[in-house]
Amino acid sequence: MSVFVTKSFLPPMDEYNKYIANIFNRDILTNQGPLVQELQKKISDFLGVENFHYLSNGTIALQLALVALDINDGEVITTPFSYVATTSSILWQRCTPKFVDIESDNFTIDVNKIESAITDKTRAIMPVHVFGYACDTDNIQKIADKHGLRVIYDGAHAFGAKYHGKSLLSYGDISTCSFHATKLFHTIEGGACIVRDKTVSDKLELQKRFGHTGDEHFILGINAKQSEFHAAMGLCNLPYMSQIISGRRRVSEMYDKYLDGCVGRPQPQAGLEYNYAYYPVLFKNESELLRVFDALNKQNIFPRRYFYPSLNKLPYIANATACPVSEDISSRIACLPLYYDLDTDIVARIANIIKENTK
Ligand SMILES: *Cc1c(COP(=O)(O)O)cnc(C)c1O
Repeated sequence: MSVFVTKSFLPPMDEYNKYIANIFNRDILTNQGPLVQELQKKISDFLGVENFHYLSNGTIALQLALVALDINDGEVITTPFSYVATTSSILWQRCTPKFVDIESDNFTIDVNKIESAITDKTRAIMPVHVFGYACDTDNIQKIADKHGLRVIYDGAHAFGAKYHGKSLLSYGDISTCSFHATKLFHTIEGGACIVRDKTVSDKLELQKRFGHTGDEHFILGINAKQSEFHAAMGLCNLPYMSQIISGRRRVSEMYDKYLDGCVGRPQPQAGLEYNYAYYPVLFKNESELLRVFDALNKQNIFPRRYFYPSLNKLPYIANATACPVSEDISSRIACLPLYYDLDTDIVARIANIIKENTK
């Protein structure tokens, strides 16, 4: 049996089937149906946030966030150490990503390097709470206020994490999230925007459904709505969140114990209540990483290179700034298999193979 870096949580099938039977009875499949509304309410309560929008995926959430904040041109300061969607959503909106290098100890954007990247074209900062580690939200907000910039957090990994006592998704003008099947909490496909300002939230509410209500058209919009079938999966999964997080914590703590001293590990910030979204490890160099991958793959174990390459190296970006820290970390970082019910024996086996190949 193969072991992959993630395994989607699936609720007991009869729990899902009950929701599906109700959808068939009602014959309402999408367009802000009752399950979408119920899920929005329950997630808002779970996170303790307002102005929460459940959307079709985490990428459209980033694009909508830019549009709702009127960022249609100019430069957006962002991190090179993320999944490609962070950068591609900026480019897709015809803005220019300006990469600022990352902290070596938690892989989030280096706040001390942001100001020197600001020009008269800069409109926004789009950092990422990568792997569920918190950005320096206080200082990022201070810089944004000083220069009149918007802040959009790509919080695709931040669900269930808390920072200074509140959801990590409650910072910035808008925080986005992804509920893709590979993420900590999922609705098969799905995403969200959490909006600070009610006026911006009302605008985004229209923009996510073509900009109209009935026959009255207000503004340019797109289709970012989500279906009842997806919401049903979310409603089934949400009650299992504490089980999912504690299972992932159990696996992470086993890795910590077995791998102590043979791989590098990030340093979570003070004030962060971690969600165990990923288990990243740093090897000494790329050849050590490739050696470990080779040995694990032979046993049908498939970790992933998250994130590689550093996004300033994407082939469709010209003249991106060099980001030596991100480029170095990208070349030698990987995420180990992590899911709530990962078998104890498999964790031990993975750790042993890593130990043998990192001597
Ligand atoms: C998964 C992910 C996204 C995109 O989310 P989708 O729901 O797959 O569109 C964006 N940013 C980061 C950092 C991600 O990991």
